[in-house]
Amino acid sequence: MEIKSAFQRRGLLFVLSSPSGAGKSTIARMLLGSDDGIAMSVSATTRPRRPGEIDGRDYHFVTTEKFEAMVANGDFLEWAHVFGHRYGTLKSEVMKAIEGGRDVLLDIDWQGTQQLKQVDPDIVRVFILPPSLTELERRLTRRGTDSQEVIRRRMDRAAAEISHWAEYDYVLINNDAEKCRELVHTILKSERLKASRRVFLHDFVRDLMA
Ligand code: 5GP
Repeated sequence: MEIKSAFQRRGLLFVLSSPSGAGKSTIARMLLGSDDGIAMSVSATTRPRRPGEIDGRDYHFVTTEKFEAMVANGDFLEWAHVFGHRYGTLKSEVMKAIEGGRDVLLDIDWQGTQQLKQVDPDIVRVFILPPSLTELERRLTRRGTDSQEVIRRRMDRAAAEISHWAEYDYVLINNDAEKCRELVHTILKSERLKASRRVFLHDFVRDLMA
């Protein structure tokens, strides 16, 4: 396989986590727009599609039965229950990016991050905090795509998600999306320069291919 020629250093799994509504998706989109060297891992989920979301771009939307079959088939690097639905990172998505010589951006929760850390201890974990819970609620309401009941549940879960901030390598407060994007980009660029990654050594991909 020609991974070596495409990638002269170890491909990076770059995780962004935050409570829902803290601006993570916006920052992820901005980062992808400003850096050609990183690709998004599109997760599979059993949650219903929101207006404007596109299957295959935002998520791979699947039924619970299909998701279970994929779990049984070993298709996931990690998966978790979030807000009553299943979400999972597909090995194929990560492989596609790595084989294309790109780093991988993963928008996953703390449970997935913990699992991924077991699979690949070399991952980079970034946690994005909202400026306040009041601001978080305002953002969730403004998005206008979820019912009050869903927003209430997400607010309840926000505190639980935030309680895991110290498990991450970097923690940012999203007061301003562009500033936050810039900081996330700085982290990515610095991590790419780490000596430990600048050799071709890819146990992770070898395990994936096994
Ligand atoms: P949403 O439904 O708002 O798109 O996402 C809800 C939460 O699920 C977010 O915190 C997001 O990070 C998380 N999530 C999305 N995809 C995955 C995944 O593949 N694995 C895990 N563990 N969490 C995910």
